[in-house]
Amino acid sequence: MARVPIAEGVFTWPSDEPRLIGSRCAACGIVTFPAQDSCPRCASTGMAEHLLSPRGRLWAWTTQEFPPPAPPYTGPTGKAFVPYGVGYVELANEVKVETRLTTTDGLRIGMAMELVLVPFRTDDDGNEVVTFAFRPVDAGGAG
Ligand SMILES: [Zn+2]
Repeated sequence: MARVPIAEGVFTWPSDEPRLIGSRCAACGIVTFPAQDSCPRCASTGMAEHLLSPRGRLWAWTTQEFPPPAPPYTGPTGKAFVPYGVGYVELANEVKVETRLTTTDGLRIGMAMELVLVPFRTDDDGNEVVTFAFRPVDAGGAG
């Protein structure tokens, strides 16, 4: 079974140490995720690709108890759906990233989180589609 990214240009792929792909404004320095063509603060079009820090701190979170609206959601529905954590991780001096979380157990606002890639679904060709998530730094071992 092949592994494929959920979308192009969201994270570095393939990569042993994945990084989210954002953009940074050359004029004012603001960082965005996902990457944008023009700056949301100063409207400059001088946006350059910027690989985000793989670590940050949990800023807010909740549990997704039911499948989100589709589209854009393309994951499991019905009995195959498993509730999962979603939240915002604040990357130092960069940007808050809306992200899936690997767990909802033991989360605390402000705790250290790190980027991981996780299986999301199996596509029609039998490929394992992977997406990004954040997990507590101290959980999950070397995985
Ligand atoms: Zn700007």
